[in-house]
Amino acid sequence: MKLTVLVDNYTNIDEYYLGEPGVSYYIEDTDATVLFDTGYSDILLRNAEALHKEMTRVSKIVISHGHDDHTRGLKFMQQEGLLTGKEIIAHPDTFWKKESDGLSIGAPFSEEELCKITKLTLVREPIKISEHLTYLAEIPQVNAFEKRKIIGKMRKNGVEQDDYVKEDSALVYKGTRGLTIITGCSHSGICNIIEYAKKVCGDDRIEGIIGGFHLLETTMTPRLQETIAYFQKNHIQNLSPCHCVSFEAKAYIHQAIPIHTVGVGMQMEVI
Ligand SMILES: [Zn+2]
Ligand SMILES: [Zn+2]
Repeated sequence: MKLTVLVDNYTNIDEYYLGEPGVSYYIEDTDATVLFDTGYSDILLRNAEALHKEMTRVSKIVISHGHDDHTRGLKFMQQEGLLTGKEIIAHPDTFWKKESDGLSIGAPFSEEELCKITKLTLVREPIKISEHLTYLAEIPQVNAFEKRKIIGKMRKNGVEQDDYVKEDSALVYKGTRGLTIITGCSHSGICNIIEYAKKVCGDDRIEGIIGGFHLLETTMTPRLQETIAYFQKNHIQNLSPCHCVSFEAKAYIHQAIPIHTVGVGMQMEVI
């Protein structure tokens, strides 16, 4: 698998790509080209062009969760005719309207709108999407230190409820050295995601993790402490926390396990 970072908060010096607080990865497996999340603006398209990553080759788009820093790029793909006929894979809660502090923070399209132009696959159970990639769908909550938090409200067909971002999920690549987990924001808890990936794929070896871990703490907290202990216990080889991980959290993790810097244009190859 070859993963190329199209959108990230960070850009590397001397590499003139565009950054924004969002996530989008271009993933090439043996039998499919998959886009994981779409960032917030049109920069996924501009960076893809600069990186010579052909968006017309993408056959499947996996959406980690409904928040606009992961879904709003869909609007710009649609404007360029890049959504028509594509398969979008996500959890059924992903395209509800989402609001927080009076702001709309959800996807630019409703489920009904997407059904008209794409092949929409909404699932709560894991599905294979290519030879080695699995979309995990709904993540069971198994770690007491990773309780779901409410982020605003979600609304659909006159129903309004607190939003626990239950759709938040991840992709897993099953390689020869174990699993590589690809996350969006990890609202479901990074350790809950890892635990479920191991169960679904039947492999306890974690080769690496790339994506947001939703660790925004500025001091050492019990949650961060438990998370680091979990990483150590699982002997995770390559940790690449980004997007929604604070500098301080990265520094604490790095003291226990050396981490990699993620930035737009970074490429990762896994066998
Ligand atoms: Zn989010
Ligand atoms: Zn995010």
